[in-house]
Amino acid sequence: MTEKLCAEMGSAAAAKGNLSQPLIEMRGIEKIFKTGAGDFTALNGVNVCFYEGEFVSVVGKSGSGKSTLVNMLTGIDHPTSGTVRVGEAYIHQLTEGQMSIWRGRNLGIIFQFFQLLPMLSILENVMLPMDFAKVIPFQEREARAMQLLEMVGLEDYAHDLPAEVSGGQQQSAAIARALANDPPIIIADEPTGNLDSRSADAVFQIFSDLADQGKTIIMVTHDSSLAKRTGRMMLLSDGELVNNWIANAFPALPHTRLLWLTHQMQPQLFDLKQSIPLPDNSQAALYLFTTGPVEFVTTNGFFGKHKVRLDPGEYLSLPDVQNFSADVLGLRSANGEKVEALVLNQHAFQRWMDEDQADQVRLTTAAINRLASWRSNGDTSAGIS
Ligand code: ADP
Ligand code: MG
Repeated sequence: MTEKLCAEMGSAAAAKGNLSQPLIEMRGIEKIFKTGAGDFTALNGVNVCFYEGEFVSVVGKSGSGKSTLVNMLTGIDHPTSGTVRVGEAYIHQLTEGQMSIWRGRNLGIIFQFFQLLPMLSILENVMLPMDFAKVIPFQEREARAMQLLEMVGLEDYAHDLPAEVSGGQQQSAAIARALANDPPIIIADEPTGNLDSRSADAVFQIFSDLADQGKTIIMVTHDSSLAKRTGRMMLLSDGELVNNWIANAFPALPHTRLLWLTHQMQPQLFDLKQSIPLPDNSQAALYLFTTGPVEFVTTNGFFGKHKVRLDPGEYLSLPDVQNFSADVLGLRSANGEKVEALVLNQHAFQRWMDEDQADQVRLTTAAINRLASWRSNGDTSAGIS
């Protein structure tokens, strides 16, 4: 069940067949804020898994629920309903006291604003969490803090006050502080949000190195170029998770449309005896393949005799097929395995095209470009059966 849940979300780890227990599991998370204007649903039925050693970015527009989501992991806030398990701990059940002990040992938390204590030196700031958690023996604390400062390139600034170094250096110090008790999990909410791009890059590099060392890192970010460099992106829109396959296949679409597609597209399994009907005007209008490769053959017309292969993550839509002006044969598995796809039916597709001229242009333009690339890259050699 867990694996299925994670796989349905398009978790790369789950898709790769990593069926081990996820390190972090959030199920059915709902968060409703009571406000003067009434109830506001900030998270609406979020299911999400994180695996040990993953570097995941959480992206989405301002107000989409990113901070609310990570606050459920750090215990800064509690879900209205749903469960949060991190390792062995069901943290939505912990009392404040239990929570702060657990947090001190297991999580390194980093915020957009560094929140270093201004009257303490950088070294003392890094030692502070060790004094609270009492995991690292007293006599080792200073040496460990120095080691962490070296790791983030701040060894020469250890005795400076936070205000005496740059923003990027303060954030590096905050990362060193978050690592004080050697937590397995690091949670960062817009850690580069207040930094120039060079400092942001340096800070990102520290996260990336930590991920290589096996830490599990969850990083909220506005910066899509940084997000793309993480192992997996999690896109939130209006408090809901966008299906990863859909987000990756249509990076140019507005988030609200991606969420709509997440609601509309249904998974379908085609067994080998069943041919996959082409996208047409009667039933399915768009397939997004989640296994594969699949292939199809065109026999004549403008497109000529051609075999086209689509890998998992690629899609085939009604505009693609309409563009061929050729007879198309047998959409089918290319490797003798069952095919799974997310399917958008014709009715929903038509509604989408009617509602949104810009998306219609996007899809038809994409279809024309894809046709050109299929023509030049496709397997035109014989052997078409
Ligand atoms: P993000 O981090 O993606 O920018 P947040 O998780 O901070 O978004 O907020 C999601 C939505 O929940 C926003 O519309 C925000 O105004 C609302 N929200 C967040 N915290 C509270 C709160 N304490 N009370 C009322 N509404 C809140
Ligand atoms: Mg936020």
